Parts: sequence; structure tokens; C-alpha cells
Amino acid sequence: MERLLRLIGEGTSPFHVVQAVAGQLREAGFEELELCRDWCLNNGGRYFMVHHGSSLLAFTIGKRFTFQDQVRIGAAHTDFPGLRIKTRPEVEKEGYGQLNVEVYGGAILNTWLDRPLSVAGRVALRSEDVFKPNIRLVDFKRPLFTVPNVAIHLEKEINKGMELNRQKDLLPLAGLLGEGDAPGEEKEKEAFFLAYLARELQVEPEEILDFELCLYNGDPGELLGLGEEFFSAPRLDDLTGVQAVISGLLGGERERGINVAALFDHEEVGSKTKQGAGSALLSLVLEKILLSFGRDRQQFLGALADSLLLSVDVGHAIHPNKAEKSDITAKGILGKGLLIKENSGQAYATDSQAIAIIQQICQREEIPFQKVTNRSDVTGGSTLGPIASAMLPVRTVDVGVPLLAMHSARELMGAADQESLTRLLTAYYSL
Ligand SMILES: [Zn+2]
Repeated sequence: MERLLRLIGEGTSPFHVVQAVAGQLREAGFEELELCRDWCLNNGGRYFMVHHGSSLLAFTIGKRFTFQDQVRIGAAHTDFPGLRIKTRPEVEKEGYGQLNVEVYGGAILNTWLDRPLSVAGRVALRSEDVFKPNIRLVDFKRPLFTVPNVAIHLEKEINKGMELNRQKDLLPLAGLLGEGDAPGEEKEKEAFFLAYLARELQVEPEEILDFELCLYNGDPGELLGLGEEFFSAPRLDDLTGVQAVISGLLGGERERGINVAALFDHEEVGSKTKQGAGSALLSLVLEKILLSFGRDRQQFLGALADSLLLSVDVGHAIHPNKAEKSDITAKGILGKGLLIKENSGQAYATDSQAIAIIQQICQREEIPFQKVTNRSDVTGGSTLGPIASAMLPVRTVDVGVPLLAMHSARELMGAADQESLTRLLTAYYSL
């Protein structure tokens, strides 16, 4: 839980999630590799590589690894729904400086109102070699913006539910414009945000070529409930999964085989990108690992046959005020253990042979788990498991902690569930 708390604080954009995880791996003695180089791997070695800044693959080779051994993969995603700053972001309206933003993923929009928001992400700067822009990560780590609600006196129907227009109603306030002036100091009126960003990075505004910047809720995670049964925090989807996969890999003690942790970006927008679970990345990396041990493609394809993928992402818990939204029998509750998610339509990878493996691990290790499905008349969303297993056709199971308020700017889980998820991943990477 402590590691999760720290990751929530540090993981304020997918790039920062990857940076924080890379820090944990380096501390544990993992060696960083690059896809563009030849790899020289050893039995007992621990390695990781970052892909396009926001995805990361880490793997350990068993001390007594032979190429017939099972490859066990754990996967999670580094992105989360929210607001992203658009290119040419400055808007001036009614004396206010505002930012032009767009919605990333399926955010619950009204949870982003009336909150102090900060900004984190990646900025590309001018470089000597045009093919190698200077890349910098930035996290302002302080409240800068807010999207204020409209007063109930002016919008009498507001409590009946008000639809928020994605272009018009979500632009955050960035400051006040003075007489021919803009928020902050010594910047050009029409580029007050870029000037502010440049100052933070200690570069000239003209050096900034492009950026991918997320607005984020900087609240720290907190325990709630009379017995501290609950944990309330931003970005639980899917930093719970990211941390469980990495903690499992770090604690995994398998002597044989290869353990892999795959953290993908872009799950919230469909995964079909160069650094998403719908890319060939996982397959390419597995092939490269086996080739570097002097195996050929035929042997790589053989090794896949017995491999397993555990896709780790949050699932829905039953909501006491909306119990009718959950399935009539297979429902999950906060604090009662991890979820094994099933759906015959394959919104969750569902394969009884694979589920039986995970279920037996839970039973043997006395890890609490709950098997859940969605109501037949409610489509509950999907995850990266089915997408990754379409690209790498191995047996796959979808697991994760039960969650309330999924995709809110602040989500709620059972305080005990992270431990059950971490124990499953550790056992998966050890047995
Ligand atoms: Zn998710």
C-alpha cells in the first residue's frame, strides 16, 4: 500500500508513471535495455526497457531458464482518463485567461469541476539534430487551474443533472488578464501558458515545439471509513494494477522461465497505438529475448504455446445506492479480495482453463478473490487483456481490484484489496 501511495503521488502522467516504475526497477538492480540495440542477456538477469516514454516492459530470466519454460506475463496500463491540454492552448475570455483542453478517455466530467488541478507530462524542445528533439518531463506539483461550476442560482436545474459540453464547459481558469496583460509576468498575452511552461523548464518559449500535458488531481490517497476500510485516491485505475505487477515481478522467485511485466499506454482510448496493448510490442520483445539466447523464430513460437498473460486492471464493485447496476449473482464488493472478471462476449478475456489456473493459485495461497460478471443488460467496459491476447495469442485472465467511482477524478477501493492483488502477482511469478 505504501508503494501504491507513492506511485499515485509520482505517477501524474503516463510518462511519470513510467519514470517512477523505472526508478523502482533501477533501485532493485534491473538493467535498462534499448529496443534498437542488440541484447546480451544472462540467466538470472533482470532487465527493463521504456517504449516511447509512456510504456515499459520489464522481465527477469530464471537462473535455471531453458527456452521450453513457461513465459508468464503480467500487464497493466499507465494512462488514466482526464483532461489534456490542446496545442495552442491559450484562450482569453471575459477578462480571464483559460486553457483549451480536450477530454482523454471516459472521464466522469463533473468530477473535474471545482478542484485545484496541476499539470504533468512531456514537452518536446528544439534540438541540434532535428530527428532527436530534446525531450523533457515536467510536473508542476502545485495547483494551477480549476474548472468552476455554475452557481445553482443561475442554473436552477443543475441538480437534475447538467450535460457538460466538452469544448465549452470544461475550460479551466488559468488566471486574470490585466490591461493588455495576461496572468503571470513578462509574457506575450497570446501565449501566457507557453511562457509559463517555458519559465518552469528554464527555456525560451520558442524552444517549445510540442507537448503532451495532462491536468491532474494532486490529492494524496487517504484511508476512509470508521475502520479505515476504504482507500480514496486519484488514478487507482490503473496504478493499482501497475504497482501490483511491478511488486509481483520484484518479489517473484521463479528459478525457471521468464517473468514479464508489460505496462502499456493508451488503454483508455482503445490500446491500438504504437505503445498500446494492441501493438506488436509484447510479441517483438518476447521474440527478441529468445533470439538473444540463440533461439530461432520456430522456438519462439513454441515457447508462446504454453505462456500465460495476467491482465491487471480495476473492475466494478457493487454500489449500494445503485445495486441494480450489478449482476444478480456474480458481484464484487470492496475489501473482499481481488476480482476475476469474466464475460463470454470477451470484453474480459474469458477462458475456463486459464481462469482455473489463477483460481487455484488464489486457493493454494489463501488469497481472497471474487468472480464477477457484468449484468447482461449493462455493458461494463473492457480492458487490455482481450486486446493484448489478440496480438499475442496466449491464455489470458483478467483480474484487478474492485472499484467504486471508476473514472472519477477520485476513485474508491477497499484498503485490503491491493494486498490480495500483490500476493497473487507474487505467487504467479514465483510458483
Ligand atoms: Zn483501467
